Amino acid sequence: MSIYSLKVPLRFVLLGTIAIMSVTNTFAEGVYKDKRQQMVDAVEQMMEMTESSIGKASLNKRVVEAMMAVPRHKFVPPDYQSHAYENRPLPLSHQQTISQPYIVALMTDLAAVTPESVVLEVGTGSGYQAAILSELVSHVYSIEIVEALGLQARLRLQKLGYENVTVKIGDGYYGWSEHAPFDAILVTAAAEHIPEQLIQQLKPGCRIVIPVGEQKMAQSLRVLIKGLDGEIEQRDVLPVAFVPLTGKH
Ligand code: SAH
Repeated sequence: MSIYSLKVPLRFVLLGTIAIMSVTNTFAEGVYKDKRQQMVDAVEQMMEMTESSIGKASLNKRVVEAMMAVPRHKFVPPDYQSHAYENRPLPLSHQQTISQPYIVALMTDLAAVTPESVVLEVGTGSGYQAAILSELVSHVYSIEIVEALGLQARLRLQKLGYENVTVKIGDGYYGWSEHAPFDAILVTAAAEHIPEQLIQQLKPGCRIVIPVGEQKMAQSLRVLIKGLDGEIEQRDVLPVAFVPLTGKH
């Protein structure tokens, strides 16, 4: 058989393969979209159940859209991909955890961001919370103390096209003064107190959302609001369980 006579069937085979791949991808995307919708429904149900603590029964529409847009299955370890859209936390490497979707949604909602916001996240982990924020704000600065996790998250976010997220390896206790002041600060690891540096790096009229409490003891998801006059107001929203904020501070 001449090379020429091989060319036609080969081209068909290739085209056929590409067609099958794109049908499979479209199918998979449809399945993931349905799963994300189920995840959002479960989150909304929990919002209703916790209305009295939170002070509202439903999520901001933009937060729902972000939860529907981010492919959570690309942020969890391969062994847990089939559980990616369940409303529960999942393990990451280095004894860390990707928070339950309800908590991610709630923290995002409580941060009250706008499309113009510049946000600091402490505790990049998988990068999932950063990706959710990325859909909603102008820029996300995220700090991760475990180098391997931070590098992995940075690469993952780049590959998925989240261009407005900058990840740095370091101790987020001290914030990121070069990019301060921030329109919102989210801390996704539990601190014994709210770091003074973070309060300083917050714009007046803006919020810090942070789990506060001793490790393994009751922690509270706390919202700190810095008034326009600089006065600090705080509210404990919900009991939560986060991995601890580590570092030498
Ligand atoms: N937001 C993450 C999950 C956070 S888990 C996500 O969406 O996947 C908490 C993360 O905080 C862990 O990755 C942990 O390594 C990190 N961390 C703990 N102490 C830190 C500190 N002092 N500075 C920065 N990151 C810290």
